[in-house]
Amino acid sequence: MRHYPVFLDLKGRRVVLAGGGETALAKLRLLTKTEARIEVFAADPVPALQALADEGRIHLHRRGFAAGDAAGAALAYAAADDEAEDRRVAALARADGALVNVVDDLNASDFITPAIVDRDPVVVAIGTEGAAPVLARRIKAELEERLPASLGLLARAGRAFRRAAEALPHGRPRRDFWSDWYDRAGPKALEEGGTAALAPALERTLDDHRHARPRAGHVAFVGAGPGDPDLLTLKARKALDVADVVIHDRLVTPAILELARREAVMIDVGKEGFGASAAQDDIDALIVEHARKGAQVVRLKGGDPTIFGRLDEEIDACDAAGIEWSVVPGITAASAAVAQIGQSLTRRTRNSSVRLLTGHDMKGFAEHDWKALAPPGEVAAIYMGKRAARLVQGRLMMHGADPATPVTVVENASRPDSRTIATTLGRMEPTISDAGLTGPALVLIGLAPRHAAYALDGQDVRIELKEEAAL
Ligand code: SAH
Repeated sequence: MRHYPVFLDLKGRRVVLAGGGETALAKLRLLTKTEARIEVFAADPVPALQALADEGRIHLHRRGFAAGDAAGAALAYAAADDEAEDRRVAALARADGALVNVVDDLNASDFITPAIVDRDPVVVAIGTEGAAPVLARRIKAELEERLPASLGLLARAGRAFRRAAEALPHGRPRRDFWSDWYDRAGPKALEEGGTAALAPALERTLDDHRHARPRAGHVAFVGAGPGDPDLLTLKARKALDVADVVIHDRLVTPAILELARREAVMIDVGKEGFGASAAQDDIDALIVEHARKGAQVVRLKGGDPTIFGRLDEEIDACDAAGIEWSVVPGITAASAAVAQIGQSLTRRTRNSSVRLLTGHDMKGFAEHDWKALAPPGEVAAIYMGKRAARLVQGRLMMHGADPATPVTVVENASRPDSRTIATTLGRMEPTISDAGLTGPALVLIGLAPRHAAYALDGQDVRIELKEEAAL
């Protein structure tokens, strides 16, 4: 981030602008909305500039910009539309100590003005550091559509009421009041009675909230999916939007944690797959402790919370404490992994069932019905299977599985650093150990990447995500 976003208080400050044409006018459109003292230097201004001066919205000096003109100014704009003149003005203004913007010249500017969506006092600024003005315009258009024009009115009424709202306790009760105002009570009052209805509606809403029973805590067990934030459900997004506390595993990626409400307390309980059972008790206690205080707790788990997620222990802890809970499903690693290799988990005439196995359980290597998995066509997705690979290989071959059975390992499924390794049961080890996997990895027994199947007679195929299409 080369440009640091700030909102500058221009009330009573001097802002100088050199230029008398359309470019100058365009810059003044936003500047004249501020409470700055705006001084424009132009020897030969267009009539619209003179009109602004006549209305008292700018101070017009009918001469060129000179040394000292930017003394004490907060900002200076070089808007003459003439490179040499703009450069001269920029040098003079900078010498006077002002921050300079040269219109349409990012590199010559100390600051740039973002695209904005104006619902004063709500102002959304969009910047792309000059990299993608088209994108900025598109985002602006989307926001213009999404944010109702009445937002500014509601916010202005709200601003005048902030003191009164302090009657509610700080934190959740006050936030709930404001959410209720902006989401429901405010728009409704405006629609039914116009601006005159806003002040009484604020009083009424405050009164309702002062007499409301304190909100009970709640725990949402939310599936964060395999890592790609686009694979979150809308419900997961909503839960993150309102969370007071987010308790998450190591599997949850930073890009997803970024989506939590900014004020949310983030707690990393750092369990990946299997952890010590004492830690589980601590996690249970932590969840209960926060929910008891009335917090909206999001217990965020990688993939789907109901798959190898120790969900039941945590639900039991909530039940024992009388805390309400809900489960928001997520996309499990097996779904993400097969999507990536273009295969189905089940397929007519090949396999009518699929097994989700864990390579490890609390006692170590997890035993399964290997005999049932040995016949051709059977499909299994092994979670936490990296360390168990040799034992899985041995057990399956012992029960007569064909060494040529395809095996695919997908590391970091759905993430930019994902790797796919296609091998066979016979070569599964040492292939998996040799691969030096560092991220979470899923071992798919009985499935080869769709476009690499032919290569399985030869060597193992390592498919980097981006090359997959080329294979
Ligand atoms: N609840 C999770 C699984 C938790 S167990 C889910 O539904 O996906 C942890 C194991 O899941 C890891 O050891 C790994 O085998 C698998 N896993 C989780 N995320 C993964 C990913 N992005 N890519 C590959 N495997 C993943």
